[in-house]
Amino acid sequence: MLQKQQLQAETIRRISGVNTRKCMKCGKCTATCPAHSEMDISPHRFVSMVENNEIDALMSSDSLWKCLSCFACVERCPRGVEPANLIEAVRVTAVRMQNRNRLLPENIPSLLNNKLPQQALVSAFRKYSK
Ligand code: SF4
Ligand code: SF4
Repeated sequence: MLQKQQLQAETIRRISGVNTRKCMKCGKCTATCPAHSEMDISPHRFVSMVENNEIDALMSSDSLWKCLSCFACVERCPRGVEPANLIEAVRVTAVRMQNRNRLLPENIPSLLNNKLPQQALVSAFRKYSK
């Protein structure tokens, strides 16, 4: 089990391009994250857990779906760690393990309305269409 999580963590670090060892655990990413109060695993903990190969907990985390893909954490991090890229990599891995796309292009027109910001649509594609 540990080996499986270790391999998954290595894959997630590779596809995200994030070097988790650069994190100095300052918490600035969490402090700047507009969604952290909704998250069960805050951005700085997310980075630590990938570093420690604790992937199973991340895969079932609400944080995957609460993250707004706004990249504020990436802008704020003094060490260039890019927590958002890690979250996205875990999210993509979780979606692939479900073996289905959650948002298909042909379903989009029925979801549109005048109040939907375009950024929400772009964010939804990033989250659900891989
Ligand atoms: S801001 Fe960067 S260095 Fe600080 S805890 Fe977050 S990821 Fe780590
Ligand atoms: S990209 Fe996600 S984790 Fe980073 S600041 Fe935005 S909502 Fe928070």
